[in-house]
Amino acid sequence: MTDERAERIAEFIAPLRVKPGSKVDLATDFDPGFKGGIGGKKQGRELLRTGVALLADYQRRLAAEGRYGVLLCLQALDAGGKDGTIRHVMTGVNPQGVHVANFRVPSSEELDHDYLWRYACRLPRRGEIGIFNRSHYEEVLVVRVHSELLERQRLPEEAKAKGVWRRRYREINDWERYLYDNGFRVVKLFLNLSKEEQRTRFLKRIDVPERNWKFSASDVRERAWWDDYQHAFSRMLSATSTRWAPWYVVPADHKWFARICAASVLAHTLIDIDPQYPEVGEKARHELSLVKEDLEAEAPPGAPADPYAASVAHRKGGHGT
Ligand code: AMP
Ligand code: MG
Repeated sequence: MTDERAERIAEFIAPLRVKPGSKVDLATDFDPGFKGGIGGKKQGRELLRTGVALLADYQRRLAAEGRYGVLLCLQALDAGGKDGTIRHVMTGVNPQGVHVANFRVPSSEELDHDYLWRYACRLPRRGEIGIFNRSHYEEVLVVRVHSELLERQRLPEEAKAKGVWRRRYREINDWERYLYDNGFRVVKLFLNLSKEEQRTRFLKRIDVPERNWKFSASDVRERAWWDDYQHAFSRMLSATSTRWAPWYVVPADHKWFARICAASVLAHTLIDIDPQYPEVGEKARHELSLVKEDLEAEAPPGAPADPYAASVAHRKGGHGT
């Protein structure tokens, strides 16, 4: 990775980052239709391809090193493009190194525990990229907008008294700080969709039969709380964008642009971690050479002692003639 390329990525994502401590008003501070000066879909596709290749390379190193883990949290309103973002950004990445966790309405077992429990159960291991499709942030979003959901959590009176949201923000910040200090990076993306683009996407889900399965009438009913959600998102972004786990507000009206942003933020994190393939020491190399001798001695009559080395030598020789 050239420093220049790393710098370009850092510059590209800087306008999306929520400055820790700043007060966000979504409606005025972030434009869902922003395209970051990229010409269009075609130029965008090239950029995404580059980003995706870079991610695949870094993910291999992350897995080989096995020291750091990355948690990518995706939040959005319905039809915000979470599923498509995951699909596009993760093409090319070894599926064994990535785990996606979807969070829906909590089960009764989940409600038997503290509110962060179910998220803690799905955290990535070292060397993995974990993706939360919806995340612990639902606990200060949908649960804040619909107070009956807080009731279902069977909290003691004092735990749901006034100040519950401020306390949850602090608890979430502390939890993410704990993860960061122990080698897990939390990357947070909010896909910021406009109300009109959401309407268009819902209609597409109705008009195109293959998309009907994605449509739910309750998603449309949820539009009635649009302003409450905008408020809850603004409060969440203001309170939980931290030095160790900043929020990125991704303009989501253009899917292709949102995907480039997501890939870039994730790449930025991996570049920062800079995972390395483990070095093989003198002793281990010596052991390898002994085993190599044994394997070479097993060559059947007529076969090269080391077929791989022979094929490499042949290829090199072939080019020269
Ligand atoms: P989907 O992502 O379309 O499968 O929908 C999942 C649903 O689960 C959404 O309507 C979310 O609002 C809801 N949901 C996710 N997390 C929670 C939570 N912690 N409490 C209540 N509802 C939730
Ligand atoms: Mg849905």
